[in-house]
Amino acid sequence: MYENSKRLFERAGKYIPGGVNSPVRAFKSVGGTPIFMKKAKGAYLFDVDDNRYIDYIASWGPMILGHAYDPIIKAIQEKAIESTSFGAPTELEIDMAELIIGMVPNVDLIRMVSSGTEACMSSLRLARGFTQKNKFIKFEGCYHGHADSFLVKAGSGLATFDIQSVPGVTSGVAADTLTCAYNDLHAVENLVSHHKNKIAAIIVEPVPGNMGCILPKAGYLEGLRKICDEEKIVLIFDEVMTGFRLAAGGVQEKYNIQADLVCYGKVIGGGLPVGAFGGKQKIMEHISPLGNVYQAGTLSGNPIAMIAGYTLLKELKDNPLIYSELEKKTIYLKNGLERVFSDWGNPFVINQSGSMLSVHFSDGPVTDFASATAANNEFYKKYFHGMLKQGVYLPPSAFESWFLNNALTYADLDATIEFTRKTLET
Ligand SMILES: *Cc1c(COP(=O)(O)O)cnc(C)c1O
Repeated sequence: MYENSKRLFERAGKYIPGGVNSPVRAFKSVGGTPIFMKKAKGAYLFDVDDNRYIDYIASWGPMILGHAYDPIIKAIQEKAIESTSFGAPTELEIDMAELIIGMVPNVDLIRMVSSGTEACMSSLRLARGFTQKNKFIKFEGCYHGHADSFLVKAGSGLATFDIQSVPGVTSGVAADTLTCAYNDLHAVENLVSHHKNKIAAIIVEPVPGNMGCILPKAGYLEGLRKICDEEKIVLIFDEVMTGFRLAAGGVQEKYNIQADLVCYGKVIGGGLPVGAFGGKQKIMEHISPLGNVYQAGTLSGNPIAMIAGYTLLKELKDNPLIYSELEKKTIYLKNGLERVFSDWGNPFVINQSGSMLSVHFSDGPVTDFASATAANNEFYKKYFHGMLKQGVYLPPSAFESWFLNNALTYADLDATIEFTRKTLET
């Protein structure tokens, strides 16, 4: 069933570390051979052995309207003829910035980069340059890309592989990274009072998706806002995952909270490498060439990446019903899965926000990294492989969120629920 994938994985291992260009793809935590993809259309992936999968990853978020979305493909083709990069400004970059600023709250100026990692890394540098302070707070299980400062108690692949500290990140860098549990305001207050006037920023995934999907407790995000206001700390919302996904204006819109700086990635590029960070004028004007906080990129604002992102974001802006349709589908799936898991009789929790969802084999609520890791993640492996065999592609880790795309039909969701029942019966 996976002969060609197996052959390619062996070949890949000769030239690429672990055979993959991003660790979670390796299936190391769920076991088995990673599936090599050939093509995708709408809600379906097709692998090199011609197996079809209903996709719940959406390239980890970007494919919110499904794969190979015709208007995006057409726009890329038309743009590519005019050259793929200039290293000089283009009008399209203004269109993109204007569109984004019209969609998301509290962003006066925005800088394009090429990945979520770059967005988070640059926003932290900016917060430090702006406040003239060095330390920052991040939350256990939150992932902000792979820049050195963030690889302390990080989620996503680091949670998947149980990596506590990363060789190569110096103790000096790590010492400026303060961490505490997500959803615990008291812990933040303690850190802030212990490091009075030393903290530049608090960075948070406002609805975390890198330890599974976790919901903020009532008042939590408001509490962070208040602490930052009182202590003159820059509040950075890492909306790389949630931006343009939970609402056109991300968590800032959905929960009506203002961040000082916001990071974007994933959906913003429509499947091409794009990230961005933006925020209030008085902070953003410290970025080079307006200010001295240096930040640059040879391919930043690349025309092919911009046209892909612009085409997708424009569609999301013009059709706000997409978000309610997506949420309706996600709740339908959640309800169906809850029925099947209840009949099965073992402990489980399903967390859901908008079109993000995660299943935890836990007997208590999953609200932070400790409760996410306490779940029966061994069973997740069995569930993952049972579903894969029946043609459903779930994240190959219990610490990753599922991402629904709007090309999914109710028949796809019913099939997913039914395949779950079959998997649990075996
Ligand atoms: C994916 C992700 C990143 C990193 O983005 P890359 O494009 O993979 O560098 C940062 N923050 C969050 C919340 C993410 O989900």
